[in-house]
Amino acid sequence: MTEKIDQDTKAQDIEKLWIFPAVRRRVLDDFYDLMILCNKCGYCKFIFAPDAKDARFVSQCPRGNIFKHLSYYASGTLEIARGIVEKRLAWSNTVEHILYTCTDCGHCQFWCNVAMRTHPLTIMEIMKETYVKEVAVPQHYKTIMTNIDVSHNPYGKPHEMRFAWLDNQKPPKSADVMLFIGDDVAYKNNKLAMATVNILQKLGISFGLLYEDEWHSGYLPFRGGFREKGKALLKHNFEALKKAGAKKVIVLSPHDYRTFKVDGPECGLSPDFEIYHVLEFLAPLLKENKDKIKPLNKKVTYHDPCQLVRHIMPFSITEQPREILKLLGIEVVEMPRNRLNTYCCGAGGAVPFGYPNVTKMIARIRLAEAASTGVKELVVSCPSCEASLGPISNEFGLLVENILILIQSAIGA
Ligand code: SF4
Ligand code: SF4
Repeated sequence: MTEKIDQDTKAQDIEKLWIFPAVRRRVLDDFYDLMILCNKCGYCKFIFAPDAKDARFVSQCPRGNIFKHLSYYASGTLEIARGIVEKRLAWSNTVEHILYTCTDCGHCQFWCNVAMRTHPLTIMEIMKETYVKEVAVPQHYKTIMTNIDVSHNPYGKPHEMRFAWLDNQKPPKSADVMLFIGDDVAYKNNKLAMATVNILQKLGISFGLLYEDEWHSGYLPFRGGFREKGKALLKHNFEALKKAGAKKVIVLSPHDYRTFKVDGPECGLSPDFEIYHVLEFLAPLLKENKDKIKPLNKKVTYHDPCQLVRHIMPFSITEQPREILKLLGIEVVEMPRNRLNTYCCGAGGAVPFGYPNVTKMIARIRLAEAASTGVKELVVSCPSCEASLGPISNEFGLLVENILILIQSAIGA
C-alpha cells in the first residue's frame, strides 16, 4: 500500500514538473527531457490549421519568418539548447542573435501546449539567463539595464520627468484605485496617460498615482535573462502600491500587465490587490455609462497584443476591447489572424531596442494583414504596438489609432 502511494506521488510529481515548468530549477540541464521531447510537429511555426483563413497569413513565428532558418524557430532553438547541454555546441554571437530577436509573442509556447508541451519559450528564457551569467550581456541590454538602474526606465530619461505630462491636476499618492502608467506611456506616448486620466474622471472614478515610486515594471529584465533584477523591480512596485493603500491597480501597458499578473506569481510575488488591464477595468464601466457615449460610426480592424492574449491564458483580454468598440458604435472587421492566433507587431521582448529593423519588418507583415481587410483604420490597445505599427502605417494606407483615444473622444472626456 505504502509503495502504491509512493508510486502515485512520484507520478504526480513528474506530471507537475512536465505541465508546470515554473516549479523546476531554472537550470538548462533540468529541461533536457523537454528539449528532446520536441517532435518537430511544427505547431510552433504555423497557425493551428482549422483556424487558417488566408494562405498569406499562416506562418506564425515572427522571428522565424524574418530569418527563414530552422534555428530561428522554437523547435530549432530547442536543438541548440540540446547541443549546449550535451556539450556538442558552444555559445556564440549567432546564438545570442537567435535568442534576442525573439519577440516574446508566445505563439510557440501556447501552441506547443496543445502538442508536446516542451515549453520552448521558458527554455529560451533560461538560455538567456545562462547566457548573461556565463557568457556575455548583449550590447542593447547593457544600455537597458544601466538606464533602469540609473533612472528607473529603459530609455535613460530623467526619473523626475515621469509625470511631467500631468497638467494642473495632481491625483493623490494614495487611493483604493491606483493607476500604473508604465515607461512607454509616461515618456513616449503621454497622450494615452492624459486620455486615461480624463476617461476615469469622466466616469467618476477617483484614483491615485505612485509618482516617484513608480519604477520600470520588470518586464524587460525578465525577458532579457535578468530574472533577479525583474523580481526586485516588481517587488519594489508591489510594495509601493501596497503602501499607497491599493485595492485595485489599473495597468496601462500590456507588457507591464503580463509581468504583474504572470511573472509575479511565477517568482513568488502575489500581491493582495487586484490587477486590471485598463480595458478590463473600463469595459463594464462603459457598459453602465452607455448614455454618455456618442457613437463614432466607423469600421476598423483590431490588433490583439500578444501580451493580452497568449501570455495570460486562461484569462485573455480579447472580448473586452471588442465589446468596447461595439459600445463606441465601431464595427470591427477581423483580420485573418485574431485573438489566440494574433500576429506580433514586432515590439515584444526588447527587439525594438536591439534590432529596430527586425521590428519594422515584422510590423510590415502585420500591417499588410490589416490592409487586407479593406478598412482604413487599425485600432491598437498597447503603446508598444502603436510605436511599431503607427510610424509606417501610411505605407499601407492605414491610420493607427489607440482605443483609449477613441474612448476619450466618444465620451467627450
Ligand atoms: S510545437 Fe513544440 S513539439 Fe512541435 S515542433 Fe514546436 S517546439 Fe517542437
Ligand atoms: S515567442 Fe514568438 S517569436 Fe519567439 S520563438 Fe516563439 S513564436 Fe517565435
